[in-house]
Amino acid sequence: MASADGGSRTFTGIGVGRGGAVGPVVLAHAAPRIPPGEPSPADPEAAKARVAKGFADVASSLRSRADAASAAGVTTLADILRATAQMAEDPALLEEVGALIDSGTGPAHAVEQVVDQFAQMFLAAGGYLAERVTDLRSVRDRVVAKVLGVAEPGIRPLSEPSVVVAEDLSPADTAGLDLENIAAIVTRTGGPTSHTAIIAAQLGIPCVVRAEGVGSLVDGDVVAVDAAHGTVTRDPAPDVRESIERRVELLAELAADDAPAATADGVPVQLLANIGTSDDAGRAAPAAVDGVGLFRTEVLFLDRSTAPSIEEQADVYARVLETFAGRKVVIRTLDAGADKPLAFATQPDEDNPALGVRGYRLVRIDAALLDTRLAALAEAGRRTGSSPWVMAPMIATAAEAREFAERARSHGIATVGVMVEIPAAALRARELLDVVDFVSLGTNDLTQYTMATDRLRGELADLLDIWQPAVLDLVATTAMAGLEAGKPVGVCGESAADPVMALALHGLGISSLSMSASAVPVVRFALRQHSSDQCRLIAEAARSAADAPQARAAALALVSRDVREALGL
Ligand code: PEP
Ligand code: MG
Repeated sequence: MASADGGSRTFTGIGVGRGGAVGPVVLAHAAPRIPPGEPSPADPEAAKARVAKGFADVASSLRSRADAASAAGVTTLADILRATAQMAEDPALLEEVGALIDSGTGPAHAVEQVVDQFAQMFLAAGGYLAERVTDLRSVRDRVVAKVLGVAEPGIRPLSEPSVVVAEDLSPADTAGLDLENIAAIVTRTGGPTSHTAIIAAQLGIPCVVRAEGVGSLVDGDVVAVDAAHGTVTRDPAPDVRESIERRVELLAELAADDAPAATADGVPVQLLANIGTSDDAGRAAPAAVDGVGLFRTEVLFLDRSTAPSIEEQADVYARVLETFAGRKVVIRTLDAGADKPLAFATQPDEDNPALGVRGYRLVRIDAALLDTRLAALAEAGRRTGSSPWVMAPMIATAAEAREFAERARSHGIATVGVMVEIPAAALRARELLDVVDFVSLGTNDLTQYTMATDRLRGELADLLDIWQPAVLDLVATTAMAGLEAGKPVGVCGESAADPVMALALHGLGISSLSMSASAVPVVRFALRQHSSDQCRLIAEAARSAADAPQARAAALALVSRDVREALGL
């Protein structure tokens, strides 16, 4: 089928990764429409039973998809699906729907009203809960479809490599994707931190989110998706197709390159993987990475209502250490709170959770939580005969860094560091480095706190940009402190995955770069084409710029033409 307004047209959004694809559009099915005159149920008990069955069926299908995702090693997706199934099984939801049906509301409207009330509560709570609203609404749409007896919303089976175009994708939609035939994903809403973007990055599927105007695409339109440029082109010209095809071939070649990372003049650069689970470790270990630069241990326990025991934690940490035997592994202690709420470690009544008792600050109210984790890390090190590097998140002062280092060393941990995620810590990095062995910049939070911009707000993406010169200044201050102290300063925020930023970070004096494993080949390639002096010039050009777009443009102008062309920069 051709587009109503026909012809070639390019839509722009935010790209995830550097890949691309050309293929026919398959539209995700819209949510069911509830007829306005839905009658009061003649038999309220039967209507309630139908709704209960709807919720139960949806929960059980989510759980089987979660199991399939676990079996395929896609653990982030499995976790999201299990959390969504839990929402579908919430007895409070069913109870309130039942009460509305008893008072004469039609069952589909009752489901809609109650879920919308819950969604409002989630939005008001903000942070992680607000991010789950898309998932909650996907449960609503599936249950309503079952109650009305119409086709479930989602994506039809794919018979050839296709580009799925949607408003946004729910975890259930992504779980149902036929990975063999999914060439790319395009969404009209969402943002770089939405789960569609996270899952696409994890699965290595080219993706463009927040693509304005793609609502005009119809099934069968041929589009070229270019994640590097964040563009979706309908009826692409041959040169657009060819440039994407060339880049996809190059990315496959780069992924096969396992030479140690170094600049053109032979200065080695440590490239490390960010992981959240032992499954992630299993996937990252065969890649040519120098180890793990950030193991986010809280990811393991997101769905737990009680703190895990020393034994249970030690088992997981030991598995990761064994998987990376002989390589560096940096493990972070619990970073709960704000965007990472954990039932057993989050303060329920904070007005500003991102500024509250989160990360290392939890030691003030529950020191045992930290001691248990340190004991488990030390035990995992002993068991595997390895020596993990351990660091604390959300450190604000040198006093906190000293206190953490003493605690960690008292458990027998030899290499102790802290994260620099708060501007105060960056400004005083020299004092921090007097008391710890290394620091690691968490550029996601450092940008959030420097720019006073919630990292979950997609609409403030222009402020939440590591290219903001103020953020680069703080990175530079920290790197300089490391060079003076002769101690390592790494970056473990996802910013290191951008090859241009990776060059700038090396130029600023950062000693290791940690990112999702799939980004490592591109960064290795970019580093190899530039000398350390060129990287320094790139960093200086960015820092001298007036704002974030100019900083990136100034850096990019100094990147070799070959790299720019090859990576579509
Ligand atoms: C960061 O803040 O950059 C970081 C690496 O930690 P997280 O994203 O887990 O908060
Ligand atoms: Mg952080």
